Amino acid sequence: MTERIGFIGLGIMGKPMAKHLLAAGYPLTVRDLFPSPVDELVEAGAARGESAAGVAAVSDVVITMLPDTPDVEAALFGEGGVAEGVTRGSLVIDMSSIAPVPTRRFAERLAAQGATMLDAPVSGGEKGAIEAALSIMVGGPDDAFERALPIFQKMGKNIVHVGPSGAGQVTKACNQLVVASTIEAVAEALVLAAKAGVDPAKVREALLGGFASSRILEVHGQRILDGSFAPGFRVRLHRKDARIIIDTAAELGVPVPGFAPVAEALQRLIDADRGDLDHSALVTLIEDGAGVEARA
Ligand code: NAD
Repeated sequence: MTERIGFIGLGIMGKPMAKHLLAAGYPLTVRDLFPSPVDELVEAGAARGESAAGVAAVSDVVITMLPDTPDVEAALFGEGGVAEGVTRGSLVIDMSSIAPVPTRRFAERLAAQGATMLDAPVSGGEKGAIEAALSIMVGGPDDAFERALPIFQKMGKNIVHVGPSGAGQVTKACNQLVVASTIEAVAEALVLAAKAGVDPAKVREALLGGFASSRILEVHGQRILDGSFAPGFRVRLHRKDARIIIDTAAELGVPVPGFAPVAEALQRLIDADRGDLDHSALVTLIEDGAGVEARA
């Protein structure tokens, strides 16, 4: 039986992900607070959901791709939310990056209604979403993962069932810790090169062949050299993830001394009105301090 899918949250990531499901032949009902991405999907053959509950009522599987924990809570349990539309056997998959502890609570609340929830945050950015090449990190029961796998395979490539409910979100927090810290390291290195009078483009090229090589050096390093800070992944969203990392580490009693100043730098960018730039704009704080830009 082909699953009927509901998709809530058609932003930078959600819109291309939903398009892949439609192209794969799944009957799709979509919803967003903004009309334009909904119109675009309806034009392509999806049905329009008038509320989150309405989406859930006509779907076997409901996917959410929303900014933050309160957005997911509102879409699931607010007035007219998904919880009002699910039935026994419904599967809810939250692919947003949100906090692990509330995720487990949401899964329990849905389970009380006979529905199952997976947390399945992603990595790979807008490019990964458009190319259906996302890395998907999944938490939740085995049978729900098996059920969702064909759907995940339409949106991603590296799909890992990490563990029980919340494990996907813990994995995403680990991912975001490494990504932000690496962008900061690449940014500092390229500005250091520029201030020393050494071509930062050549430095990137040299480092790409050695131990300091990374996807971040490749992609964000190039963005820095181009001064191209249109998102991509907004500073504001990475600051949200930084809060999840710091809170989760504090709850568990894990020191994160390397990451804490990076989290502060993300906040400084927001305070400097750069919150809607790509997270590679971390370099602009270093450039401000050094008095040089790391441009090619
Ligand atoms: P976005 O802000 O572009 O999109 C979010 C969408 O959700 C918006 O269109 C908004 O209108 C909609 N929305 C918010 N509340 C809603 C509600 N209650 N009902 C219906 N629609 C609602 O964000 P994005 O970049 O697509 O990111 C979505 C999630 O994916 C975030 O948690 C983010 O951290 C994560 N993520 C983003 C990227 C990236 O590169 N952009 C990469 C990996 C993970």
